[in-house]
Amino acid sequence: MTTTFEHLGLSQPVLQALDLKGYNTPTPIQHQAIPAVLKGRDLLGIAQTGTGKTAAFMLPSIDRLREADNQIPFKSCRMLVLAPTRELAGQIAQSAKDYGALAGLKVHSIVGGTSVNKDRNKLHRGTDILVATPGRLLDLIDQKAFNLNGLEILVLDEADQMLDLGFIHALRRIHQLAPAERQTLFFSATMPKQIKELVGAYCRNPVQVSVTPAATTAERIDQYLFMVQQDEKQSLLEMILRERHEVPGKFERVLVFTRTKHGADRVVKKLSQAGIPANAIHGNKSQPQRERALAEFKSARTPVLVATDVAARGIDIPGVSHVINYELPNVPEQYVHRIGRTARAGKDGVAIAFCAEDERAYLKDIQRNTDAEFERLPLPDNFRAVVEGVGPTKRAAPGQRQKRVEPKPRGSARGGQREDGQQQRSARPKQKHPSRKGKPAHAGQGRPGGNRNRRGGHGGQRRSGGA
Ligand code: AMP
Repeated sequence: MTTTFEHLGLSQPVLQALDLKGYNTPTPIQHQAIPAVLKGRDLLGIAQTGTGKTAAFMLPSIDRLREADNQIPFKSCRMLVLAPTRELAGQIAQSAKDYGALAGLKVHSIVGGTSVNKDRNKLHRGTDILVATPGRLLDLIDQKAFNLNGLEILVLDEADQMLDLGFIHALRRIHQLAPAERQTLFFSATMPKQIKELVGAYCRNPVQVSVTPAATTAERIDQYLFMVQQDEKQSLLEMILRERHEVPGKFERVLVFTRTKHGADRVVKKLSQAGIPANAIHGNKSQPQRERALAEFKSARTPVLVATDVAARGIDIPGVSHVINYELPNVPEQYVHRIGRTARAGKDGVAIAFCAEDERAYLKDIQRNTDAEFERLPLPDNFRAVVEGVGPTKRAAPGQRQKRVEPKPRGSARGGQREDGQQQRSARPKQKHPSRKGKPAHAGQGRPGGNRNRRGGHGGQRRSGGA
């Protein structure tokens, strides 16, 4: 028998709110977390955005607040949700309003970068639920405009990202200020040492719930792979963004992932030097910078966004046509999470991976632990010349198809000397992929304004091999 929200013990107002949202079946984290939270237990949830974790802590908390039926405390709140970013705080506050609408609970959110005076005024009489970023919360506490005396439930969401954004001291202070008698729900996607210490300080004998997103790559995402040397990735990225080469689909918004913040900045700087406007989003960027980058990406004014995993987590970026893994993630689930950024809302998406020699182990891990199937693409025909600075990049005239690059036999001019003097491995596939056999040279290559339906071109089949 399938478990329903009713079986988990939620109240009628909450069930009605879920009905309005159209949610019938609890996700795994909701299934595990809701009964424990309803019993008043502390919780440690190891889960990412997309698993339904917001409802997992919000639904039972709303019922706990209803049941206790305490007065709203003056200049304080009954439930506090701490979130790392403005965007996430906004999303959580909206969920709290949606789920708590019929329970009659008052919900507010406070984040940095807005008027402190307004926040002070709106919190003067207190609130049932407050969603806050740690910095703004402490600002108000320091101004004696707010306190945590009335706190019954404390939630830390995306704790690892809060640490990444430098909130460790803020979190330690908030822990000291919060009353000891409370329920704590602690969420983090990863469990580094510092997070474990925080869990030890914040939680009392927590029920542990761990949910990794199903390690399956969405059906609608076509995945491609370039084998390319690390120091040649930038050239490849620029050539792809300019000329698209083998990569199908119209570039609407391209999300590029790097492993590090500095890596993201470097890529953006070089793209800008090459005349390709791009923004970076990562933990070292200020809130206004992040917001501007996101807004420009959403409006497609700057349709290339270079992100780190942590920065991209927890924020909803719609309309991503292509995800480029400039560097492969060292955790296979992260790959699934990254490429899940495309192909949202029933659209087809394209994911491209750049794999350097020393990333082969990551690639193997991804293939072993997820159902990712890559079609390997050859490097552009003029790649060597461009990388070595002796040839211009080809620009496909608008509406004109790029010439398909045919594989050359191994040991051809492509397998030349590397700068380090070693023989370069051919980056060509040994054999053209069977699914492309007998296809016209450009089968499946989308062009701006004249896009073919790739699904039609490839008969809707998933493709594999090459790697
Ligand atoms: P979260 O991990 O909390 O960011 O949630 C991811 C998405 O799943 C959000 O858009 C939620 O509204 C949605 N969601 C949460 N719980 C359910 C559910 N039981 N059924 C369907 N969708 C859900």
